[in-house]
Amino acid sequence: MYQPHPFHWIPAQGKRHASSESYPAGVQGYPDGSEVSMLCEQKLAADNSPLAWLWDTCEPCNVAAHLLAAGAAV
Ligand SMILES: [Zn+2]
Repeated sequence: MYQPHPFHWIPAQGKRHASSESYPAGVQGYPDGSEVSMLCEQKLAADNSPLAWLWDTCEPCNVAAHLLAAGAAV
């Protein structure tokens, strides 16, 4: 099965974080306020407000996401 990326981006608490957790069953995203384990090892509540997508990227998540995208295990 083709998987474009083993992670996705989730805005939470002022930054754009990445997570390799799967989405909850039946949805393409995390509902507002759902707790997600991020690649930077924080557990944060997802924020789907329109401006949230303009937040800066979380640096540790960005580094981990690049490693995942390159096929490395984190
Ligand atoms: Zn992060």
